[in-house]
Amino acid sequence: MTEPMTKHSVVVVGAGFGGLTMAAELKQAGVENFLVLEEGPEVGGVWRENTYPGCSCDVPAHLYSFAFDPYRDAHVRYPGQQAILTYMREVADRNGLRSHLRCNVSVVSADYSDTDRTWALSTATGEIIYTDAVVWALGQLHRPAIPRVRGTQTFGGPAFHSARWDHTADLSGQIAVVGTGSSSAQMIPELARVAAGVTVYQRSPSWVLPKPGASFGPLSRRALTHVPGLHDLYRAGLYHAADLVLAPIMRAGWSAGPAELVARAHLRWQVRDRELRAKLTPNYRIGEKRILLDSGYYPALSQPHVELVTDRIDRLGPDGIRTVDGTERRADVIVWATGFRAPEFLAGMRIRGRGGVDLHDRWRRDGRPTAFYGLAVPSFPNLYMIAGPHSFTPSNSNPSVKQHQARYIMRCLALSADWGAPVEVIERAMASYIDRLDRALARTVWCDGAARTWWKRADGTITNAWPGTVSEFEQAIADSDPAESFVRVAANARALVERR
Ligand SMILES: Cc1cc2nc3c(=O)[nH]c(=O)nc-3n(C[C@H](O)[C@H](O)[C@H](O)COP(=O)(O)OP(=O)(O)OC[C@H]3O[C@@H](n4cnc5c(N)ncnc54)[C@H](O)[C@@H]3O)c2cc1C
Repeated sequence: MTEPMTKHSVVVVGAGFGGLTMAAELKQAGVENFLVLEEGPEVGGVWRENTYPGCSCDVPAHLYSFAFDPYRDAHVRYPGQQAILTYMREVADRNGLRSHLRCNVSVVSADYSDTDRTWALSTATGEIIYTDAVVWALGQLHRPAIPRVRGTQTFGGPAFHSARWDHTADLSGQIAVVGTGSSSAQMIPELARVAAGVTVYQRSPSWVLPKPGASFGPLSRRALTHVPGLHDLYRAGLYHAADLVLAPIMRAGWSAGPAELVARAHLRWQVRDRELRAKLTPNYRIGEKRILLDSGYYPALSQPHVELVTDRIDRLGPDGIRTVDGTERRADVIVWATGFRAPEFLAGMRIRGRGGVDLHDRWRRDGRPTAFYGLAVPSFPNLYMIAGPHSFTPSNSNPSVKQHQARYIMRCLALSADWGAPVEVIERAMASYIDRLDRALARTVWCDGAARTWWKRADGTITNAWPGTVSEFEQAIADSDPAESFVRVAANARALVERR
């Protein structure tokens, strides 16, 4: 006798900020028949994976937290990785999400059955999990990127990516850090404190603004927790300030000039050495790549035992790194702070939708990954994403975007329940969205900018970043009615989508 098929209403894949937000929305709506599958041993996403020294948030905690369970008790404005991870664990406990969570489960493929109108998810161990709807919440910064460098295999010491920190490595000798993005800027002051020497290999400098740290004593924490409306007011202030001041920089708007002046003054104030200052001065407009918020990076680089190298790396040898000018520098440990393979959405995952359409084939045909508000693609009924293409905000808090996406997905799920069938975004709605998106992207400094940034592919196509403010995203997604942009999918609708 064959076992009856167990089917879930929704399966969420990933338990970072995106997955937990989606799970909380489902829970609050009274949906109980859902699962959260997580490849790692615990919730947390990037905050579980990134344990490098100095890892911290660069959006204030009261904004960089779940709207349904805010981080009212934060001790500092920009908490470290451990504090954020602890908060995420507590959120999972407090909101009854643990009973839906299965850790150490890696999903490898998803196939839609036209007959059953059901998704079958396959895991790395061969298990098949059936569900009416699937939400991918895999994040954009999950797959480390390590450049291919000659001689890598010959290096004799520990070499690891910043997101895969080797806590057994001895950091007291000579450390080489490759890359100068946010992670690198955060770890260099910490490494400089313990290492005999630190060599930093830079491809291009970042614009750096001072990070105005602050701590919250018991009184202000109590006030933020207990005074009615105070926390929400503070959070709303942070949200709108980021949209009003930081977001215009991405469009060369009113704040770009002042921001560049502040960044230049910050550099001049913190770096007295002219030669070092020249190396650290970007040759592109502010906003073309992620602006660093950091007050400890420049002082760390100015120390005598820290060297900034701007010559390209030629090869690795058993004892260190040689640059193209022929100089060899010793390294006992190499840290690749070289970012992530961010433009490769759902990489390595086989996803087949209606009529067997392959998601990656579709994106190849389109010339880039795209999704309606970063969350749905035609031909993929009841399949959603959180943090899909063009939904990363470089100027505000990413959990806010994820929350707007999760709420929209809830509206799609409600529509599907209402219509008694899976729903799918219409090509016409998608085309009109892409048209608006492209016009907005064309107004950003990323579009014609020379700077290489992680949200842009090597061919110049922007794949990850949302080109507007988060309020614009919130407004646009609130104004979009799923009943107009989605259609009901009939059984065996291999080529045709049935109109309601
Ligand atoms: C070091 C660092 C600092 C950051 N700081 C900020 C910041 O200050 N402000 C900001 O707005 N953003 C920041 N970000 C961006 C950050 O990515 C987002 O803010 C957010 O935390 C991402 O959440 P997520 O759930 O979308 O993705 P993730 O946190 O990456 O979570 C995805 C989860 O999916 C799981 N997963 C992946 N593949 C599978 C699979 N096949 N099967 C099952 N599970 C799978 C992963 O294990 C992971 O737990 C930072 C990113 C990094 C790396």
